[in-house]
Amino acid sequence: MKKKVVIVGGGFAGLNAAKELGNKPDVEIILIDRKNYHLFQPLLYQVAMTALGESDIAAPLRNMLANYNNITVFKGIVERIDVENKTIITDFNTISYDYLILACGVQHHYFGHNEWEEFAPGLKTLAQAKEIRRRVMEAYERAERTTDFVERKKLLTFVIVGGGPTGVELAGSIGEMSRYTLSKFYRNIDPKLTRIFIVEAAPRILGSFSPELASKATRSLEKLGVQVWTNSMVSNVDENGVQIGNERIEAATVLWAAGITAVKIGSTMDGVETDRIGRVVVNEDLSVPEHPEIFVGGDLAHFSTGEGTALPGLAPVALQQGRAIGHNILLDLKSKARKAFRYLDKGQMATIGKNKAIVEFGSLKFDGIFAWFTWALVHIYFLTSFRHRVFVLLQWGWSYFTFSYGARLIVNREWRFYPDKK
Ligand SMILES: Cc1cc2nc3c(=O)[nH]c(=O)nc-3n(C[C@H](O)[C@H](O)[C@H](O)COP(=O)(O)OP(=O)(O)OC[C@H]3O[C@@H](n4cnc5c(N)ncnc54)[C@H](O)[C@@H]3O)c2cc1C
Repeated sequence: MKKKVVIVGGGFAGLNAAKELGNKPDVEIILIDRKNYHLFQPLLYQVAMTALGESDIAAPLRNMLANYNNITVFKGIVERIDVENKTIITDFNTISYDYLILACGVQHHYFGHNEWEEFAPGLKTLAQAKEIRRRVMEAYERAERTTDFVERKKLLTFVIVGGGPTGVELAGSIGEMSRYTLSKFYRNIDPKLTRIFIVEAAPRILGSFSPELASKATRSLEKLGVQVWTNSMVSNVDENGVQIGNERIEAATVLWAAGITAVKIGSTMDGVETDRIGRVVVNEDLSVPEHPEIFVGGDLAHFSTGEGTALPGLAPVALQQGRAIGHNILLDLKSKARKAFRYLDKGQMATIGKNKAIVEFGSLKFDGIFAWFTWALVHIYFLTSFRHRVFVLLQWGWSYFTFSYGARLIVNREWRFYPDKK
């Protein structure tokens, strides 16, 4: 009889596990995701910053898996896992499994202040990217029409909390947009009035990169008008800006790029160990201790690299772990021994505006325009489909030379002509 494999999450880990098991004779697969599409998160900031549209970085899971006859896709939310009875409880049904693959990723963490989310959206989903885009574009539009200098200054102040790669990419893009785009399209805004802050609690930004690359990135950001505040802990966020100890920054737009926590699902499994941020601690073969039938991969997994450290939340880690999980299930079915997961390090990179990036690959470190081209090529290569690669390449080419971005549309959330039901 065929084994039933349930995969929760169609991100890099879940999708690659599904592909590894796709069209294999001994398994039937159900993949469940709360969204009906796979999202290429590394380019999410480009949607937020108007460089790309939503469909450039997302593709329907159903289409991506159409050629695998043994995979069924359900759109739904998995609420809980009953490890005793080997079932998952979703918002539409209860589903049993022989093998379970959890690949549900992580979400933002507001350090006990979830009320800040309203004033400082994070960047993890397409909906959040669109909301950030709306806020940034709305701030420019309101700055264009106001005659009040203080109000304009506030509207042209952007604070990004968190100096990791996402914070740096957001700040660099806003810096570039303000420098080169505002002057071209807005008549009343003096680009010099724009202020962009990265507020980082640690002693330096880009903590996962080497200090020399991080300081090069800091200098590039400063050239784009970004002020980098390190050793600065945000103590409050409200609709008018942020508080950092005794300092106050009045800002119409605050964006959150600090702190992550695992999605809740891992902690619904009785007796399963999770780490400080809720990731599920896994064995070398990516299964959960005492539960060889449950695997966890990607951002949700705590895969130890020794002495309290774990593999970072990166796309190549998730992708490789997804494949490895699928492969281990196939080994089980052939009654062969499972393989321990070994991560093939693909390095890390981050962009600062349109011409600069930093790349770190083992002892190889470089920055500048060559790094930016490396970054661009790698991201094009890993995009989901040929169509996505062509479209993104064309749009980048166009905006590279024209400084004109196509997705600079503000679409209001209200869609009805008759909202008051009269
Ligand atoms: C803005 C941003 C920029 C990034 N840039 C880079 C980069 O440049 N390079 C890099 O290597 N990595 C980058 N990353 C990290 C990388 O995207 C992640 O490491 C990777 O996406 C993790 O893959 P995953 O499959 O574990 O989780 P995800 O890709 O997050 O997928 C999880 C899936 O699970 C689904 N899900 C969650 N909970 C449930 C539930 N209860 N029920 C049903 N479905 C559920 C979600 O809808 C989602 O589709 C970036 C991440 C972000 C947010």
